[in-house]
Amino acid sequence: MTKYIFTTGGVISSLGKGIASASIGKILESRGLKIALVKLDPYINVDPGTMNPYQHGEVYVTEDGAETDLDLGHYERFTLTETTKFNNVTTGQVYNAVIAKERRGDYLGKTIQVIPHITNEIKERIKKAAQVLKADVVIIEIGGTVGDIESLPFLEAARQFRLDVGFDNVLYIHLTLIPYVKSADEIKTKPTQHSVGKLREIGIQPDVLICRTEKPLSEDIKEKISLFCNVRKDAVIEARDAESIYQIPLIFKEQGLDKIILTHFNLHCKTMDLKDWYKNVVEKELYPKHKVHIAVVGKYIGLQDAYKSIYEALNHAGIYNNAKVILKRIDSEDIEKVGAEKFLKDVSGALIPGGFGYRGIEGKIAAVRFARENHIPLLGLCLGMQCSVIEFSRNVCGLVGANSTEFNPKTRYPVISLLEEQKKIKDMGGTMRLGAYPCRLKRGSLASKVYKKELVSERHRHRFEFNNKYRKVLEKKGMVFSGIYQKKNLVEIVELKDHPYFIAVQYHPEFKSKPDKPHPLFRDFINAALKFQEKKT
Ligand code: GLN
Repeated sequence: MTKYIFTTGGVISSLGKGIASASIGKILESRGLKIALVKLDPYINVDPGTMNPYQHGEVYVTEDGAETDLDLGHYERFTLTETTKFNNVTTGQVYNAVIAKERRGDYLGKTIQVIPHITNEIKERIKKAAQVLKADVVIIEIGGTVGDIESLPFLEAARQFRLDVGFDNVLYIHLTLIPYVKSADEIKTKPTQHSVGKLREIGIQPDVLICRTEKPLSEDIKEKISLFCNVRKDAVIEARDAESIYQIPLIFKEQGLDKIILTHFNLHCKTMDLKDWYKNVVEKELYPKHKVHIAVVGKYIGLQDAYKSIYEALNHAGIYNNAKVILKRIDSEDIEKVGAEKFLKDVSGALIPGGFGYRGIEGKIAAVRFARENHIPLLGLCLGMQCSVIEFSRNVCGLVGANSTEFNPKTRYPVISLLEEQKKIKDMGGTMRLGAYPCRLKRGSLASKVYKKELVSERHRHRFEFNNKYRKVLEKKGMVFSGIYQKKNLVEIVELKDHPYFIAVQYHPEFKSKPDKPHPLFRDFINAALKFQEKKT
């Protein structure tokens, strides 16, 4: 019998529900259970793929090519699970499916309503995920904050779930905030009481409370929360601000959260051990030997969440190399105003991330040029790879005005152009080249040294590609095309010979990096940056 945990959030957003859910997954996984994590998102978009990164943050791409919420990135980084299109359910998908069924006549004679039709669809999707992902425990994170109008159908479905599958098979965990009020020098439980009250109005009595707090929760406070919220005292878990997000599973474990969950479910599992996680991840992250300054030259720099997986992948590579990665987040539009030198002269590596549209592109290209000419290690991702090709074409091959047709459809030298398969596509949602494709590496190339393999598989999200017409011209001047998707002869990796580490890829390696297993491209990028730094000093 599959067990289900619903996680909800109260008081305010951004409490770290994704990380808390992933951490719950981690502690259960370490008890030998197979887990799956599902995110329910209350917005009406079918997926976040059509949203601006400033609205939504990063779009996380799964192996099977779904464009999903960035919390799925946390799920994959903390646990062994591989997410799929079944792991993210949005209001848009639910309504889309119900309306299609209505038109087909599946509910003939009936009035279609939120209860039961929408809630049934939500429940079916959760059960489907459990079945496809073959999990012992499914953790379902409900997006938004309790009290939002939008998430009501999801909460109602969560309430019904316990009726459907039985009391012992469902657990409700509520993540809440216990704010500290400076003037009173006190921490306050009232917002939590209200938010649990809201949940109870809907018919959900949380079994566990995870309390985000700056200050420790005294026994008295725990007792008070327990009494007012009707939750066992030992199930009031303190989640104090941690230095590293990867400490959170350890913090939950110390307070016996795994035991509370297993006891509720009547599951008997081996005792758990997270020693390796502590030794290989947390300890190394908290006590690094070196530090290294890395620039990220982006278009969505103002929002921390827009490059979530990239920042994490850099952090993982730092952990591996015993170095703290100090990020210098640079808005490429600022480079356009005053040039790249001012921003890049004191960094030891430059990462050029993905993106869409012309804004900020010339700044990215200027950054690539500065890194190429000054032998600063460079890692280009997706749009970053396209900018690397444009820069090289313009400044090394003399193709004046070379560009991507995304930015200038009439350019004389369209070195980046629309993928053939994209030419007939009209709809914008879910139609990019998405998900995992194999890539063959050139023998003796930097890419093959980094990966130590001939064939790799990486995730994609793009419409434009390197234009093979220019391969010879660029090759002659020293660009190496070291990774190819052979079936369609698409260039996936470019690199430069006379440079310590210049590699740019059409795909998104950041999605596959883990804290205890950094992605090789990031791992060696940070290693090259450390060497660069050493040489400089
Ligand atoms: N805009 C570019 C394309 O569609 C790059 C996409 C990206 O960086 N994800 O090909």
